[in-house]
Amino acid sequence: MKMEIRVRYAPSPTGYLHIGGARTAVFNYLFAKHHNGKFIVRIEDTDLERNIADGISSQLDNLRWLGLEIDETIDHEGKYGPYQQTKRLDIYRSHADKLIADKHAYHCFCTNEALDKMKAEQQKVGIFSFQYDGRCAKLSPAEVKKNLADKVSFAIRLKTPKNKIFTINDMVREEVSFNTKDIGDFVIIKSNGVATYNFAVVIDDYLMKITHVLRGEEHLSNTPKQLLIYDYFNWQAPRYGHLTLIISETGKKLSKRDGSLMQFIEQYRNQGYLSEALFNFISLLGWSSHQEREIYTKSELIKIFNSDYFSKAPSMFDVRKLLWMNNYYIKNLTQEQYLNLVVPFVKSEHDWESKDEQWWQELLLIYQKQLMYGAEINELISLFFENKPPLTKEAQDFLQTNPDASKKVLDDFKAKLATTDDWSLQEIENIIQQVKADTKITGKMLFMTIRIACSRQTHGPELAKTIKLLGKEQVLTRLTDLKL
Ligand code: GLU
Repeated sequence: MKMEIRVRYAPSPTGYLHIGGARTAVFNYLFAKHHNGKFIVRIEDTDLERNIADGISSQLDNLRWLGLEIDETIDHEGKYGPYQQTKRLDIYRSHADKLIADKHAYHCFCTNEALDKMKAEQQKVGIFSFQYDGRCAKLSPAEVKKNLADKVSFAIRLKTPKNKIFTINDMVREEVSFNTKDIGDFVIIKSNGVATYNFAVVIDDYLMKITHVLRGEEHLSNTPKQLLIYDYFNWQAPRYGHLTLIISETGKKLSKRDGSLMQFIEQYRNQGYLSEALFNFISLLGWSSHQEREIYTKSELIKIFNSDYFSKAPSMFDVRKLLWMNNYYIKNLTQEQYLNLVVPFVKSEHDWESKDEQWWQELLLIYQKQLMYGAEINELISLFFENKPPLTKEAQDFLQTNPDASKKVLDDFKAKLATTDDWSLQEIENIIQQVKADTKITGKMLFMTIRIACSRQTHGPELAKTIKLLGKEQVLTRLTDLKL
């Protein structure tokens, strides 16, 4: 029987779902689904001080919003639960005890002061990556027994051999070798009884029958520690793949502190990005389809997700590409879906009742082709709500190219508008044609002058529709206010 592929995304609820985490989750999901396997989300919450109150719910909620169906997790358990590390502390402890019994681990009674002193002494002789000196490994069984009976606080450390080489066949980097010489005996259970990440992750991946681990390259340096634990238990390690960095346009690693770029899925969601677009965009951060196309649905990606195509170079988070892609998906929404996307943004800034439903729909729909994200709608429609919008620089420049012609167009257009009772699209188009016939001014001079007079801008949605939606009174006021 073929082995079932089981992968996991293992967020620490110390923050919200970040682009980097989402990429790891999406790749694991696609890999699992491509192979008809299982996608598991395990909550790694052993760093108690750093956990945030809504960390878990926000991680799960945003993963699901992105479209990831989770086969096993805390609120949807499979048979390998619990799926939250703080609920598994006894499991880690009993495994640590086994390692102690096998002499691969030992109790360390060193106080923080003793460890600080050790660190300072190492630094004095130029060693800056601290390594525990192994003193508690030398305690006699009687000393250990006495300390335990006296309830002296302890951690559990793993014995680390000096020069063991581990070699893995990484799914992204191919062959990678590690030497244990720089590791030192590290803590697997802290003095508060909680397992450390490197220990818990191994126990869980093994017990949850995880076959492949795709994760960020920042975990590469943890891999030898984890391999050592597998080795001591005589367990087979999963196949690893360490995904390359995501970098910003300036070439730097995305930093959560960099406020110039939105980095959390929730922020994109709140700004009215579509989950399908984000999923598509994220799937191409460090993976390529080896085709010319950029647009893929989730099911297409599941079908073509080939793990030979992970990129070896860092991938750039290209904001413009994301905007382009989101716009592509917005253009393809049905009218109803589109209105569902934009109306809440509009209602948050405008008095919806002040106009009728039909007017709003017409207004909002003229922007569907252009809109890049939901929240942008308020910026786009603002020209319909300002009483005296300022002239843009381009508009001013244009009006100076031939003021006489512009004035002629405007006077005639205004006179004709003022006398019409019919404010239909057809009539507005007719009037523009009559202005053209009467003034003999055509093309850009005609249309741009009218556009600027009505909107104060050189770009915008379809002219006659804009005029219709602005309404007669507003258009006449704007025409009167424009001094040429
Ligand atoms: N909890 C780890 C993190 O949030 C994931 C570790 C792993 O995938 O092995 O970075």
